[in-house]
Amino acid sequence: MINESMYAWGSEPSAIRQLFAYGLERKKAIGADKVFDFSLGNPNVPTPQVVTDTLKALLERSPETLHGYTPAQGDSATRQAVANEISKRFEVKASPDSVYMTVGAAASISISLAAVSHPGDEIIVNAPYFPEYRVWATQAGCKVVEVATKSDDFSLDTKAIADAITPKTSAIIVNSPNNPVGTVYSKQNLIELARVLEQKQKETGHPIYLISDEPYREIVYTETVPYVPSIYARTLVCYSYSKSLSLPGERIGYVYVSDEMDKEEHDKVFLAVCGAGRALGYVCAPALFQKAIAECVNVPSGVAAYAKNRKLLTEGLSALGYEYIEPKGAFYLWVKALEDDAKAFSEKAKQFELLIVPSDSFGVKGWVRISYCVSPETIVNSMPAFEALMKAYR
Ligand code: PLP
Repeated sequence: MINESMYAWGSEPSAIRQLFAYGLERKKAIGADKVFDFSLGNPNVPTPQVVTDTLKALLERSPETLHGYTPAQGDSATRQAVANEISKRFEVKASPDSVYMTVGAAASISISLAAVSHPGDEIIVNAPYFPEYRVWATQAGCKVVEVATKSDDFSLDTKAIADAITPKTSAIIVNSPNNPVGTVYSKQNLIELARVLEQKQKETGHPIYLISDEPYREIVYTETVPYVPSIYARTLVCYSYSKSLSLPGERIGYVYVSDEMDKEEHDKVFLAVCGAGRALGYVCAPALFQKAIAECVNVPSGVAAYAKNRKLLTEGLSALGYEYIEPKGAFYLWVKALEDDAKAFSEKAKQFELLIVPSDSFGVKGWVRISYCVSPETIVNSMPAFEALMKAYR
């Protein structure tokens, strides 16, 4: 007998993937330049030249050592390089024994959830949220508890989070810079969250872990992203190089268990991360890319290209009368749908060859997400279609 949950997840791809697949078909039918695909978060900025050069140099090394297994938690030089970079950038003491290399942030989050929860526990997510959280938390046997972010600025609603915490709450996932809204939570907002979590832990007698999902950490326009482990000790940072170095298909990232945690607890959490990696089959992340990361750990991201796209898109849509949230980070624009039903609005947009994701996929109603990690030409050329879409509602 097949597993019905797996069947359901396999047979119903996410709304984002469905839209992307529709776009591929449509491009074949009418030509790629006529379809404005804003569905996926697949970076259009090429990986930096230094990453390509590093890979070429690595390929000259002896294949036996290059492609062999690394330890399950990752190559020691890579873990050291990642820890050094965290220490230098955030002025903390990060140990390589706190770093577990993974196949991207997806694996980092699945591992972290499995490491700090038990079946029947509750995981808090802040809506709107990355849809796959639901799949990963459910797979860990947990119940997802959605808490809406504040309606005016989409910041964390710490009062609502406090109300949602129960003795079964084992973790909260926080994603900043945020997909889909582009919010960067302020230090003050995170300090308030930390206070709530600390207070609730005292009341319930159970630890609550903060899973900090940070694949967009480097992609910010107006401010820096506060370093979460310095604000809340029980943090597991889930990072990947998918967006920062434009390597989404190579599947490389890490879990970092904060060294700010009590030492004894930290060592247990880290071993639980190793155990979860083992149980889920996420051992020995791709060896070639681990070695490349060891050398490229401080390579800057291509933020300038996204900043240019952000300007083109926001200025264009603003002139047409669209309402949106000014993104502070990541590469998504959160736009108010022109009718209450965001799914119907997204369907209507398809008539103008605009592929935009309805907010229902992210746990809220009435908005759409426009992914602007596309070529600037796609944005410029899409403006007549956005204009026609607006006219269809006037
Ligand atoms: N978390 C968020 C918020 C994301 O947007 C994504 C990918 O788009 C992921 C996690 C997964 O990242 P990765 O491709 O590194 O697994």
